[in-house]
Amino acid sequence: MARVIDGKVLASGVRAEVKAGAVALRAASGVIPGLAVVRVGEDPASKIYVGGKRKAAAEAGFNAWEHHFPATANQAEVLDRITQLNAAPEVHGILVQLPLPPQLDGDALIRAVRPEKDVDGFHPLNAGNLLLGRPTARACTPAGVMVVLEHTGVKVAGAHAVVVGRSNIVGKPMALMLLHADATVTVCHRKSDLAAEIPRADILVAAVGVPGLVKGEWIKPGAVVIDVGMNRLPDGTLRGDVEYEAAAQRASWITPVPGGVGPMTIALLLRNTLDAARRAARA
Ligand code: NAP
Repeated sequence: MARVIDGKVLASGVRAEVKAGAVALRAASGVIPGLAVVRVGEDPASKIYVGGKRKAAAEAGFNAWEHHFPATANQAEVLDRITQLNAAPEVHGILVQLPLPPQLDGDALIRAVRPEKDVDGFHPLNAGNLLLGRPTARACTPAGVMVVLEHTGVKVAGAHAVVVGRSNIVGKPMALMLLHADATVTVCHRKSDLAAEIPRADILVAAVGVPGLVKGEWIKPGAVVIDVGMNRLPDGTLRGDVEYEAAAQRASWITPVPGGVGPMTIALLLRNTLDAARRAARA
């Protein structure tokens, strides 16, 4: 039976470290980390996520601002705001909450954020630096998964890691982080034979968005199972991408949904913002 990874406890540890770092930075330089979140429209999940990010930032002793636009906002007005935030010295981190309404070009908005303030790690320069193995703001969810793996004590170097999903925000950066940690990495997508690939995984990361796609019987006995999926079922409950109960019978460690990877994402966002504030204080 797998040991369950408590993402809330792990995340509160990271958040406490970040808070202590913010206090130290303020004492040494007077700089208070500042996070600006740009949200467009009325997506209910985005509203909750942004509320959670602002609250967490405030608890860490940061300044946090939300710049909310109506669903009808046009590209120029959102770009203008990003330009202002780029120039504002009290703002160290900017994030554009996804998804955006269809009339907006999200790639262009993300490219407009100054790379030093891109605390999501989505800007092409930061994504490229990750590819090259250079220090950079790393995408928060996969960076959180790396903290989770560290906590298990499982050796990543030499392990066979299978990442299911190849999105730019989770799957691809996840595969790169595992590769930089010397895992042998397989990346799966819609055309992959999951039933053949997943049983080879010592470390499985599922980031798909299909509830229960990963069958418990595919899990290699003793594998570490990290479920990034957050799927809202019609009854309102959240479900991961992995068949949890069956997978937990075989895995050595497993993350629950909710309460696994989710809380880590915000913690790593705060860490990226503190790092950006530290760099600004040194500049
Ligand atoms: P995404 O952009 O929709 O990407 C999904 C990926 O899964 C794609 O690469 C897709 O393959 C692959 N896929 C879809 N159906 C598949 C199938 N039947 N078999 C194999 N692969 C399949 O999603 P995302 O943004 O990466 O998010 C993935 C999940 O993680 C979602 O549930 C999301 O809510 C969750 N998430 C959680 C957090 C968190 O904080 N915990 C953060 C971000 C995302 P193709 O490339 O071939 O289309």
